[in-house]
Amino acid sequence: MTSTHSNSASSSQGMKVLSKDDKDASMHTHFMHLAIEQAQLSAPVPSGYCVGAVLVQEAHQDLTSTEVPVADRFKVLATGHSRELPGNTHAEECCLLKLAEVEDKESQLLLNDPLLADLEKKNKNRRPKTELIMYSTMEPCSTRLSGNKSCSERLIESGVRRVYVGVREPDHFVKTVVGVENMVQEGIQVVHIPGFEEQCLAPNRHILH
Ligand SMILES: [Zn+2]
Repeated sequence: MTSTHSNSASSSQGMKVLSKDDKDASMHTHFMHLAIEQAQLSAPVPSGYCVGAVLVQEAHQDLTSTEVPVADRFKVLATGHSRELPGNTHAEECCLLKLAEVEDKESQLLLNDPLLADLEKKNKNRRPKTELIMYSTMEPCSTRLSGNKSCSERLIESGVRRVYVGVREPDHFVKTVVGVENMVQEGIQVVHIPGFEEQCLAPNRHILH
């Protein structure tokens, strides 16, 4: 494959495009705005992109209850940006690491408090089912020149079921980026939110001339 990826992204294999008619379109664009704000926090380096990401939990609408307002269904679990955490970290990776840290603390708390653990057990079945969604300004990577695990692999392993992206990864560092294809192949729904290409690429102007 020698073709370069276009930034329009919408023609990508298996990737959907967010429709204006999507009932939650305003929430998805809201979270993309948050991801762009995150990308702007990334310190520019010549060896990597400045990307922002937001990890969100969506509670499934309980059909037996009254309609839940859209804003109440979505909860931000973690935000992340490139190199936010030590070790040349990527934005999506930072989100997942932060979530893991919170979950560790919570499980430690339950281990140390039998009363709390009992309450947690009782409440577990009453909670609505939830789904993890990642919003990223740029397609989660498929190859890391450092040899670290790619973000698309991490997302596949983490149980994220949907990923919204602002732009595909340009071919500046890696010529054939297949983050979208990898995730789609593993059953993750990948959705391009159109109209944010410029804003998602803007923090990378030091690399992409
Ligand atoms: Zn990555």
